[in-house]
Amino acid sequence: MIRITDILDQASTYLPPTDVALIQKAYVFSAAAHAGQIRLSGEPYLSHPLEVSNILVDLRLDAATIVAGLLHDTVEDTDASVPQIAEQFGPEVGAIVEGVTKISKMNFESKEQAQAENIRKMILAMADDIRVILVKLADRLHNISTLEFQKEYKQRAIAQETLGIYAPLANRLGLYRIKVQLENYGLQYLKPDVYAQISEGINRYQDQGQAYIDKVCGMIQDVLEQNDIKGRVKGRIKHVYSIYHKMKQRGLTLDQIFDMIAFRVVVNNLRECYTVLGLVHSLWKPVPGKFKDYISMPKANMYQSLHSTVIGPEGERIEIQIRTEEMHQLAENGVAAHWSYKERGSKKAQDAERFSWLRQILDWQGDLKDSRDFMSTLSLDLFQDEVYVFTPRGQVKELPEGATPVDFAYTIHTEVGNHCAGAKVNGRIVPLNTPLKNGDTIEIITDASRSPSRDWLQFVKSGKARSRIKHWIGTEERARSLALAKELLEKEGRRMGINVGKAIKSGEFDPVVKEFSFRHIDDLFSAVGHGRITARQVLRKLLPKEEQKPEERKADKAGQAQPKPKDSSDAISIKGVDGVLIRYAQCCNPLPGDPIIGYISRGLGVTVHTQDCPNVANMEVERLLDVSWGGEEESKVLPARIKVVCKNQRGVLGMVSGLLAKEGINIDSGQFNSGVDGMSELDFVIEVKTTSQLYGIIEKIRKLEAVQEVTRSSAG
Ligand code: MN
Repeated sequence: MIRITDILDQASTYLPPTDVALIQKAYVFSAAAHAGQIRLSGEPYLSHPLEVSNILVDLRLDAATIVAGLLHDTVEDTDASVPQIAEQFGPEVGAIVEGVTKISKMNFESKEQAQAENIRKMILAMADDIRVILVKLADRLHNISTLEFQKEYKQRAIAQETLGIYAPLANRLGLYRIKVQLENYGLQYLKPDVYAQISEGINRYQDQGQAYIDKVCGMIQDVLEQNDIKGRVKGRIKHVYSIYHKMKQRGLTLDQIFDMIAFRVVVNNLRECYTVLGLVHSLWKPVPGKFKDYISMPKANMYQSLHSTVIGPEGERIEIQIRTEEMHQLAENGVAAHWSYKERGSKKAQDAERFSWLRQILDWQGDLKDSRDFMSTLSLDLFQDEVYVFTPRGQVKELPEGATPVDFAYTIHTEVGNHCAGAKVNGRIVPLNTPLKNGDTIEIITDASRSPSRDWLQFVKSGKARSRIKHWIGTEERARSLALAKELLEKEGRRMGINVGKAIKSGEFDPVVKEFSFRHIDDLFSAVGHGRITARQVLRKLLPKEEQKPEERKADKAGQAQPKPKDSSDAISIKGVDGVLIRYAQCCNPLPGDPIIGYISRGLGVTVHTQDCPNVANMEVERLLDVSWGGEEESKVLPARIKVVCKNQRGVLGMVSGLLAKEGINIDSGQFNSGVDGMSELDFVIEVKTTSQLYGIIEKIRKLEAVQEVTRSSAG
């Protein structure tokens, strides 16, 4: 077991004494917090944070990171809290520990490739400080290196997650040494037989291989000396996972993998890299097409080197990498090399350098859609346009920033979206317009009787949700206007002595459809429903030619003589307008008795709002219309929306709906939102005849004991 003194010794080689003292203080804190806890290996729990911070000190990271490494499990597993840590070790450390705790709580067990990439992005997005990921990777590395003490199913799950999520994440951040170890351990537990077979092959090859390595290194070293170049030459047998990867990729057996050895030459400057390449190529014949210049064309994670495969002294292929010392540091430790402690330069300058580097990596990965400047902030909002959330089964869904449960519902299935009635976020019921956060788990409550509302268009963020809602509303409105058109035509037909139902069946409308230049009878009816043509204009065409003119006048008189039928449009009278589709605005739900105003909506007839509806203020004045209630307000029920704020208490919903039932008032729909502060909100749409009836019932609900406030409300 590593001791704290080893870590402090190593830290003091590059950190000032105050930093080293802080690390010591964190050790004392962690030891007290974890006191008495034992790992499955039988070692004291403290050995784990010690090993994690040892990995971090090896990367020469700053004090905050090493301190966070020592404390990373205290919030999850002990009584310690983030504020307590922030108070004792500073807000930076507190934030890192909090981030690691957040990510560790999640379970990523999916095997799909696309899914894994989403999770990696989510982790990057959630960690608003790259050091969170460095600590998490060190944590995973130590855990997987002590996996032997876990049950087999757990070993497999952790290995799977490591190969799917964490090793690629390490690779993406250029942390080559950590990546290699994660991959090897992952393979060892996921495919133990393959791992054993390859390791055995490597061992068999070891003696023979070492002699070969010495020989080739010697030859390269000689050429370097002859040309006055100082450089390090190293040969190594490739690691298990990379051999496995090669075998799998090329469909080879272990015996067919002859390039198990890789050689590396590290020199002082860039010019020497190319000189050494020339020397190696004059020594051994290069294999055509196997030369790669990652110096002039760095890899996405900024890796730089020259790679060449040549035919070696024994006729075997060998791969040689040539790079400078600086490139080597970067190749081994990637982003950590940039985060490692540097004494010179202000903190700000260092940060700028680190982030410009990181931005380049991610730019080149093509993840950022534009070159947005996120340098202005220290946080890593790499994917600020996206949010990643979970389904109840742990699948990750990607949504635009600010997306709501409705957007989420439409990513599951159009039907789920169309019948979305409510949502739970992390187990708690929330309003449908709640913006989702990274890592939220969303559950959609559906109800076959529910359908999309126009209000949803105000808050949905995804194109898919928007287009599906519009489509639904369009279909719905068309159906409604067709039904209304038939009603208007039948009513007018009765006055004019025309049986409209019969006329439709016998095809009498067909020439009329043509005359109005429509293609289908539905289009004609839709125009009637939307008030673009009146029912009378259409029906006149069905009369014999000679009757059309005089009949018109007759019909007018007949129309005036008849009592007004009781239907929705007749509850309202509109000056100078006849047979127009009337809708009651859902934002303010006007009731007879309310002062009202009409609004000519394009293609939708007239919408009636209350005069004080906030939406009216934003409407085009020339499309506003004077309207007033007809004399029959008592005959017709209309929807009204009320909001009840009450205590979170069993049976409140029953009490309110019971009261409404007793008053003979129908409930159109209801929504129950439980709040955080012990209060709930009930949203009802009820059916009432007049404003006075509405305000009467509001008074009665207000008198209920658990109720705090009742208001007539607008939608949304
Ligand atoms: Mn841990």
